[in-house]
Amino acid sequence: MAKSFASFGFRPELMRGIQDLYYKEPTPIQEEAIPLILEGKDVIGQAQTGTGKTAAFMLPILNGLLEGKRDIQALILTPTRELSIQIAKEVEKLGKHLNVNVLSLHGGTDIDRQLSKLKETVHIVVGTPGRVLDHMKRGSLHFGRISTLVLDEADKMMEMGFLEDVEQVIVGTPSQRQVLLFSATMPDLVKKLAHRFMKQPPHLKIEGKQKTVEQIEQFYYVVNQSDKTDALVDVLEQEQPYLTIVFANTQVRVQQLTARLQENGLTAQALYGDLSQNKREQLMKQFREIRFQYLIATDIAARGLDVEGVTHVINYDLPNDVESYIHRVGRTGRAGQKGKAISLISPRQKNLMGRFAKTTKASIEERILQAGRHLDAGRRQRAEEREAHFIELRKQQQQEQKKEKDKEFAPVREAIKKKAKVKPGYKKKLARELDELQTKYEQNRRRAEAIAARKAGKSAKPGTAAGKGGSNRAGNTGKPNRPSNGKGRSRG
Ligand code: AMP
Repeated sequence: MAKSFASFGFRPELMRGIQDLYYKEPTPIQEEAIPLILEGKDVIGQAQTGTGKTAAFMLPILNGLLEGKRDIQALILTPTRELSIQIAKEVEKLGKHLNVNVLSLHGGTDIDRQLSKLKETVHIVVGTPGRVLDHMKRGSLHFGRISTLVLDEADKMMEMGFLEDVEQVIVGTPSQRQVLLFSATMPDLVKKLAHRFMKQPPHLKIEGKQKTVEQIEQFYYVVNQSDKTDALVDVLEQEQPYLTIVFANTQVRVQQLTARLQENGLTAQALYGDLSQNKREQLMKQFREIRFQYLIATDIAARGLDVEGVTHVINYDLPNDVESYIHRVGRTGRAGQKGKAISLISPRQKNLMGRFAKTTKASIEERILQAGRHLDAGRRQRAEEREAHFIELRKQQQQEQKKEKDKEFAPVREAIKKKAKVKPGYKKKLARELDELQTKYEQNRRRAEAIAARKAGKSAKPGTAAGKGGSNRAGNTGKPNRPSNGKGRSRG
């Protein structure tokens, strides 16, 4: 039977904070890590985002906090500013009934403002390694009295090249401090870091599915690249989400997709790394306040986001690695709520999707996208475009035939014009020739039309708009398509 929070012997003010957040029982990582951390041990927690790892290290820190002291008592290093801000927020929520002062130090914000805040009492500092080190070098930060150092998402910090900065920060902390390291994976650099700076830490591993991720329904649709935006609008229509984060792989794709969704009347905003910190924070605030419903983001911008009410995460582009997949999916199903993670994948990405399912031990099933209003509208539009193309083609053919005819008839016309000089017998002959030419022209015209109709019929199923020179589903260029191989937009 799972432990209760009460069994940890937390102070009453902290218990009230936990109750306010409606945490009913500890998650597995909390259940295992909290007693060890309370004992003062160094701990390695191998757990992914969404497992409740933040509260796992923060609850013991808050429990031991001495609010009356002016010293910084805990330092948490994180890979990104978003995660830093989010952890600081979590401290405020969990420590609502404590008198705790927390400060997030991250790049992209005014250093002078941070400096003036540091002159006030700060109990807990959360920050990215670069900015924290910057303050240490300026002499504005001293960690001489911290009792706990947390390295959160250590693998990400190593991946982002923060090894040296992290080491320098650690060296600036007292040797008897407790070190807690959290990481989804344990690459060599993380192991070395742990070996160098931690004292025989127990290695807790939360395997496979996580408590919070279990609540996330995961599935995918196979969709052609050219149909993706239509498909996305369809999915949103079908799902009627509350708040949604849509992931695309590059900044340009995020921007383009946002524009397309806005054109479709959806309240979408783009979040990517190059936006100023101010703008990013402003966007996040608006999203939390549900001033818009669809946040279109790159991985780096969305790392660590914890927004209540995100019912759907959509991979408009599939990430390349399972870590990113897990991270993205973990943006929904927060705080024990239900969520859905939907991916739009190309037929070739089915293998990758299979690998994600295997590694995460999750069931990620393929589903069939039901035709929606926008798809129909898209199809209609493409049919109309093709129809217009065929009309134009026919016009061109007719003009060419007319030119040919004009050329053929030229000598006859000349002769008729000069009729005075023509013998009556010759006149009859000319009239006969004219008749013959007209008949030949009619035959040619009918033959050309029959060929055009046959071609059009080949590129479309009979009875569809394409039967009149209309649509198939293979493309949206407005030009006639090669015959469909039936593998276009997957509907099954
Ligand atoms: P994390 O893994 O720290 O990113 O946390 C994932 C989410 O789980 C956050 O939204 C937390 O607020 C939430 N959470 C943490 N601990 C619990 C718990 N014991 N019960 C329910 N939700 C929790």
